[in-house]
Amino acid sequence: RFSDVEQAPPVAVFALTAAYKADTSPLRVNLGVGAYRTEEGKPWVLPVVREVESQLAADHSLDHEYLPIQGLPEFTTAATRLVLGDDSAAMLENRAMGFQTLSGTGALRLAAEFLKRKTNHSVVYLPDPTWANHNGIFSMLDFDIRKYRYWKPETRGLDFEGMIEDLKNAPANAVVVLHACAHNPTGVDPTREQWKAIAEVIKAGNLFPFFDSAYIGFASGDVERDRWAVKYFVDQGFEVFAAQSFSKNFGLYNERVGNLAVVTHDPQVIGKIKSQMEKLARALWSNPPSHGARIVAAVLNNPTLSAQWREHIKTMADRITQMRELLYQKLKLQGTPGTWTHIVDQIGMFSYTGLSPKQVDFLKEKYHLYAMKSGRFNMCGITPSNVDHIAKGIHEAVTT
Ligand code: PLP
Repeated sequence: RFSDVEQAPPVAVFALTAAYKADTSPLRVNLGVGAYRTEEGKPWVLPVVREVESQLAADHSLDHEYLPIQGLPEFTTAATRLVLGDDSAAMLENRAMGFQTLSGTGALRLAAEFLKRKTNHSVVYLPDPTWANHNGIFSMLDFDIRKYRYWKPETRGLDFEGMIEDLKNAPANAVVVLHACAHNPTGVDPTREQWKAIAEVIKAGNLFPFFDSAYIGFASGDVERDRWAVKYFVDQGFEVFAAQSFSKNFGLYNERVGNLAVVTHDPQVIGKIKSQMEKLARALWSNPPSHGARIVAAVLNNPTLSAQWREHIKTMADRITQMRELLYQKLKLQGTPGTWTHIVDQIGMFSYTGLSPKQVDFLKEKYHLYAMKSGRFNMCGITPSNVDHIAKGIHEAVTT
């Protein structure tokens, strides 16, 4: 009976946006939701996306017929090449494929379905903390969810020793979810040397590396740098999954453009995996939407448009870096107690500030600043015009 249905808790990040929208103060700032904002605090449709959209609208040869279940081939190939690298041996040897999904979330879900139902994986290791939806997705499939240490509050950096120890204790065949770059929510990534050590432990323990690659190109503005870890694992001979999102790096949040890149040892199994994923996707969403995939394919497959896009991701990443620097300088200038170097050391749009839930509440009540209870700030919410207000709020929050 519907009358027996219990109220579910709201999704924290969307509840925060609703509270922000209801606040009429001109001082309000949304430091919650993970979306890029310009220096004026506005969403940004990338100019190259606008250009391709008008070309698509004028192209009357295009129609709205169903795509194949696996998606638009020119999109899945370009997306897979983006995360594996142009010279990827796995692609050249036909040991890799892409499968179009409903954005990064859909890629994670399809992969989780496949791992649970088709290859009998039942244990998954998630970083502590991680993007909240990882728990949502893997718990839907009754995975045994375990955590590996990641954030070290004392250093406001990576708990590398803790991570290695936890992964060493993982049972064979466990799936290990790794954030390829710009770890959400902490903004802390392993160094290349640390990635190499992580790869060794994963190899020795016979674990399965599953990259959540939601920020390729958006994290640093440099695609090669952001995909380094994924490429390294593939070059080391691992079989991997990489869940890709084009929400952030193309600003196509609501178009739901994603890809699940699959790398195997053996070209023979690619067709079998594809056939199983088609069955799963058929029951999940049947066919993917084409609009966003056409945009991404048009850009990535054209050198001129691709060069423009690389400029855009640099613009976004550079603005975030500048805001990190500006906030850090303001806090230093004010003599705000504590060390704040992590603000500039962290990467991507998020920063784990180290502020407590009480301090976050204080910022909301007194300063109209809306951040996640964990102390995670979306640095894109910061602009040259509101940074003083934000720095003042943080100062008061930590000194009262
Ligand atoms: N993975 C991580 C770590 C994310 O932060 C996000 C978005 O915030 C996603 C995946 C997936 O997002 P989407 O489904 O919009 O592509």
